[in-house]
Amino acid sequence: MKRKRVVLLGATGSIGDSTLKVAQDIPERMEIVGLAANSNASKLAVAANKTRAPAICLVDERKMEVLRSKLEYEPRILVGEAGLCEIAKLEDADMVLIAIVGTAGLHPALDAIETGKDLAVASKEILVMAGEAVTSAAQRRGVKILPVDSEHNAIFQCLDGRPSEVRRIILTASGGPFRETRASELGRVTVEDALKHPTWNMGPKITIDSATLFNKGLEMIEAHWLFNVGMDRVEVVIHPQSIVHSMVEFADGSTLAQLSYSNMCFPIQYAVTWPDRVPNTLPPLDFSTLSKLEFFPPRYDDFPALNLARRAGETGGTLPAVMNAANEVAVAAFLNRQLRFPQIWQTVAQVMDRHQAVAHPDLDAILAADKWAREEARRVVGK
Ligand code: NDP
Repeated sequence: MKRKRVVLLGATGSIGDSTLKVAQDIPERMEIVGLAANSNASKLAVAANKTRAPAICLVDERKMEVLRSKLEYEPRILVGEAGLCEIAKLEDADMVLIAIVGTAGLHPALDAIETGKDLAVASKEILVMAGEAVTSAAQRRGVKILPVDSEHNAIFQCLDGRPSEVRRIILTASGGPFRETRASELGRVTVEDALKHPTWNMGPKITIDSATLFNKGLEMIEAHWLFNVGMDRVEVVIHPQSIVHSMVEFADGSTLAQLSYSNMCFPIQYAVTWPDRVPNTLPPLDFSTLSKLEFFPPRYDDFPALNLARRAGETGGTLPAVMNAANEVAVAAFLNRQLRFPQIWQTVAQVMDRHQAVAHPDLDAILAADKWAREEARRVVGK
């Protein structure tokens, strides 16, 4: 069995932490050959010293001295956005795992594909913004896109290479911290309330997205591209326990689900070792302690993110990139206490309403729409 040589982009984040744990857990199957982060030089140095990755990249050049002062060996050091693309093309790598929050992972993802490397994708922004460009480039180059997001990894496991027999994809959502909060109270929730996710421990952006349900909306579009199914066949169900990570209903009416504890090490390991399953130290489910698994329909009217995402995915073109960019600006403004919680989706809706979507956009058109949406969202926030 081959040891996979992995470049990890976003090494200092929450997915980065889990990926490093997986690499430590299955060293005979996974080797870290490259690490990249934005500005957390100290944490990048700790990861580098531990893995002895031969190449590392720090995007923020101003922190380079901190990085150099903490390194205990002499890796190849790359810098800036150009360095991020360079490390994604590393000759010695088989796979690039993209776990960068936001849109900065898009260029390196395309570079990795062009140099024939498989992609393991945690950063949902990449497929939401540029699903058509990324999946067609991967097809052309004959490289695999392996989903790391737990829901898509679950679907990937259930599909097991039989996408044509799918009737529905059912994404599970925990419902976030406000699953039972009355609509009239959502205007008063605080940043601290929104950051308390009931079942997952993740970075701040995705945690807020889980509270608004934009995370699930982004995942609907991600599923549409990853599994080549129409948006009308992608559905969402609220499952507060986060044990069933998603389900596939097949043509014969049978439904397959994937279950495990909510720990990102499970999907990360499977993305790396696919199609093999290998032993690890992760705890398997103890059914004697799982008293119930519940499922509810989402509250579409109180959490409009799902309908906005369905509209963006169905319209396609540049609209998903616009929704994603406006949401990023609105989430940052909420975290800075400039917006109240419902103003996140109100801002996104206003920006989407003003956008003239461009069909089958190339990368330039996608990036132009992303920039326009950010400016427009900042204008809405500033009002
Ligand atoms: P975090 O905020 O915890 O970490 C973000 C990582 O991205 C950090 O390593 C950060 O570096 C790096 N980064 C940020 N901006 C840039 C940039 N411009 N260039 C290079 N690196 C950059 O995020 P998460 O780990 O939670 O999420 C990462 C991605 O994975 C997101 O797209 C998220 O939606 C997705 N995801 C996350 C899950 C989770 O459980 N956390 C689950 C499923 C998907 P630095 O620390 O130096 O700033």
